[in-house]
Amino acid sequence: MMNMILLGPPGAGKGTQAKRLEEKFGLKQLSTGDMLRAEMAAGTDLGKKVKAIVDSGALVTDDIMIQMISARIDQPDCRNGVIFDGFPRTVAQAEALDAMLAEKGRPLSAVIELKVDEEVLVSRLNTRIAETKARGEPVRADDNEETLRKRLHVFREQTAPIIPYYAGRGMLQSVDGMAGIDDVARAIESILERARAA
Ligand code: AMP
Repeated sequence: MMNMILLGPPGAGKGTQAKRLEEKFGLKQLSTGDMLRAEMAAGTDLGKKVKAIVDSGALVTDDIMIQMISARIDQPDCRNGVIFDGFPRTVAQAEALDAMLAEKGRPLSAVIELKVDEEVLVSRLNTRIAETKARGEPVRADDNEETLRKRLHVFREQTAPIIPYYAGRGMLQSVDGMAGIDDVARAIESILERARAA
């Protein structure tokens, strides 16, 4: 069983890479952002509670997120392993995840950081929004330059500290997230092949 974390700022390509890894390694992508958006779309109590926070680009409370992941990871589709995408996002979440995985007997196989240039992310986002609008499709409420800048700020302040947290445990591996999608995928795959062989 492999359990891995994909780390990096919003727009770094974590979701795109996670989807590829799902097929290749038989893992389940656990995107806390997707899970929250599903709750919001379904209009659940939780969805209503978090909507304003998510739309603003701030972080939902650690308690809610930890509970959400703890329940999700017990589902049968997570049995071969998971890719955490967008979780943990604070040191408190990382500590809770460590405790949770230890308790559930699920080892953490790899923590992979996608290193990217923030200005390039902003210009990529603007291109993506223009393309989405050109296709006549709806744009996510939190998909605009102002919110992305807010989310990048939140990443630096609240999420970036988990990078030294995992580095200090000898778990962190970094990949150049500015390379092409296929090159990034190959770099991640070779890390996972090594983790699987270990
Ligand atoms: P994402 O799609 O991963 O960028 O997540 C979208 C939004 O959902 C974030 O901007 C946060 O408001 C919220 N969110 C997702 N994952 C977490 C998390 N692990 N902790 C706190 N908030 C989260």
